Amino acid sequence: MADCIFCKIATKQLPTDLIYEDEHAVVFKDIRPKADTHLLIVSKQHIPSLAHASADQGPLLSHLLLLLPKIAQQVGLKEGFRTILNTGKGGGQEIDHIHFHLLSGHLHSM
Ligand code: 5GP
Ligand code: ZN
Repeated sequence: MADCIFCKIATKQLPTDLIYEDEHAVVFKDIRPKADTHLLIVSKQHIPSLAHASADQGPLLSHLLLLLPKIAQQVGLKEGFRTILNTGKGGGQEIDHIHFHLLSGHLHSM
């Protein structure tokens, strides 16, 4: 989607250090980290939010979800992690492109 910042990151129009990439997803650091580790697991496909996802996107959503422990292991998080998925304005969603937050360690003040 033309004006979507996460589409631009996923298509390399906006250079960003990627921690992980596959056919369906990219993972990179949040620009304003709210914890010692704060990564974003982002779909390459533009889905505005969980509320916009359809049943045929179920395999993609489970792929993103199952990436979380894999990435956590890759970056050395041995004690576990927190997962956040904000949906819509009322849910605090700022970027209208579906993504999971992976956080761990000391939480920073917002
Ligand atoms: P949301 O509130 O939509 O769930 O989360 C969006 C997150 O994306 C925020 O934590 C914000 O700091 C992060 N973010 C916004 N713009 C950029 C950007 O250009 N690059 C990166 N790496 N993170 C961003
Ligand atoms: Zn997008």
